[in-house]
Formats: sequence, structure tokens, C-alpha cells
Amino acid sequence: MGTDRTGSGLGRFGHTHDRRQEERRGGNFITHAIHGDTCVAVASTDRAMRSKGITAFIFEKGTPGFMPGKKEDKLGLRASETASVIFEDCFIPDANRLGPEGLGFIQAMQILDGGRISIAALAVGIAQGAYESALKYSKERKQFGKAISEFQAIQFKLADMATQLDAARLLTYRAAAMKDKGRKVSKESAMAKLFASEIGVKVCEEAIQIHGGYGYTKDYPPEKYWRDSKLCTIGEGTSEIQRLVIAKQILSST
Ligand SMILES: Cc1cc2nc3c(=O)[nH]c(=O)nc-3n(C[C@H](O)[C@H](O)[C@H](O)COP(=O)(O)OP(=O)(O)OC[C@H]3O[C@@H](n4cnc5c(N)ncnc54)[C@H](O)[C@@H]3O)c2cc1C
Repeated sequence: MGTDRTGSGLGRFGHTHDRRQEERRGGNFITHAIHGDTCVAVASTDRAMRSKGITAFIFEKGTPGFMPGKKEDKLGLRASETASVIFEDCFIPDANRLGPEGLGFIQAMQILDGGRISIAALAVGIAQGAYESALKYSKERKQFGKAISEFQAIQFKLADMATQLDAARLLTYRAAAMKDKGRKVSKESAMAKLFASEIGVKVCEEAIQIHGGYGYTKDYPPEKYWRDSKLCTIGEGTSEIQRLVIAKQILSST
């Protein structure tokens, strides 16, 4: 999903859609923008209607005027390429419209409701890997004649990491189960994403700490987990946006 304003600014589009001609200059940070075969982009088809004037379109690789831009040199998740997409004098026929005109914003929000559960699951998985590497290391590494896992300070870290992981997993499972039942899941998916992504970074940071100096090297896995985990507090809407979504849901339901 791309717009000229990816990210938190979704809903404020600066472009109008002309059925004959689409002229846009690229959205940034699009996953698999270079290797993907299709891209769904939402465009303003009726500016006066604001978010109700937004429509989704399918762009296929090779469409004249639709091209990937520069590959981003990212902190983490480097196996998944991210690049910008560029629309330049790009004509897209009405046949490529995805759903009714004016429904693009609602479709994007529905996609994000589900996508946030997958980001929560991603955060839990990355943090689980970091926790397991720290648990293993704490039993192997000896200091002052004993395994560092025998020190209460390390035990408390492992206890907090395991508890936070369990809580994040349960929030994620709840949102996924609600989605499977076809229930509205905006608040629960935002809660799962917010909590799982934020504790995910903390758990990875503690895994680095438990590895000591080795945690700061690429010889052990925590530094990669930590770099990968940080994306989860940004992609599919930042933590700040999740708090806005949750607050809006709470206030509108009471
Ligand atoms: C690796 C990667 C892959 C991505 N893949 C995709 C993709 O495939 N498709 C896609 O559409 N997007 C993708 N994105 C974009 C991603 O969704 C956005 O980067 C994210 O939503 C943040 O938007 P932004 O980068 O424009 O930051 P900004 O919106 O500029 O935010 C900057 C800071 O301001 C804060 N902020 C902004 N608005 C508010 C507000 N109203 N209240 C409080 N704080 C606010 C943000 O929380 C953040 O801390 C990807 C991003 C990355 C990094």
C-alpha cells in the first residue's frame, strides 16, 4: 500500500485521480517495492470528499510510469527489501480499481487492522528468539565461579522477559482469534501491536545486556534481533498512532 504520504499521514492525500492520467511522484518505504509484481496504491479521486474520496488501485510491474525507486539501507530486517515507488505520467485504467470508488481509506484501515496483528506476531517471534539466546547464554557464561543465570539480577531479567513475552503473545492471540471470527478488531489489534512491539525491543535490549560485551558484537544473535525488532514500533503505524487508535476506540465506545 503506497501513497505520496506513507505513514502516519495516511488520509491527507495531495493528489487527485484523473481517470485518464495518474501523475504521481513516489511513496517511500514500500516493502518489496523492487521484487514485488503488484502494488496496491490508494489515491485521491475526489479531493473535496477528503478520506471518502480515496480509491484503491492495483499497479502491476511493467506498467509504464510505475517504477521502484532507491533501495533503503535499513538498520534491520535487511533480508526484506524496502524501496520507494514512483508514479510518473502513469496512466491506470478503471479496470485496475480495487473495489468501489471512495472506499480506499476504509479498505486501507481494514488492511491495517489485520496487518497490525501480523506485526505483533513478528515482534513476539523476534523477541522469543532473543529471549531464548539470552536464556541459553546465561546458563553457559560463568562469572565469579558460577553460571550468570544463578545471579538474581539475571534471573529477574529472564523472568520479566518471559512474562512480557507471554502477555504480548496472549494479546496477539486474542486479536487474531477475534479477526478469525470476523469481529471488529481495531482496538485489540492496535493494543497487541503497541504492546508486543514495545516489549519486543525491551526484551532484545535485555538479551544484549545478558550477553555483556559479546551482546555488542555480531558474533551473537541479540544485536540482530534488536535491530530487527525496532521496525515493529514503526511499520503499519507507529506506537504513537496505535495509542491514538486505542484512545479513539475507547472514547467512542463509552
Ligand atoms: C522497513 C519499512 C517497511 C515499510 N513498508 C511499508 C509498506 O509496505 N507499505 C506502506 O504503505 N508503508 C510501509 N512503511 C511505512 C510505515 O508504515 C511508515 O514509515 C510509518 O507508518 C511511519 O510513518 P512515517 O515514516 O511517515 O513517519 P512520520 O509519520 O513522519 O512520523 C514521525 C514521528 O512523528 C510521530 N507522529 C506522526 N503523526 C503523529 C500524530 N498525529 N500524533 C503523534 N505522533 C505523531 C510518529 O509517531 C513518529 O514518531 C514501511 C516502513 C519501513 C521502515
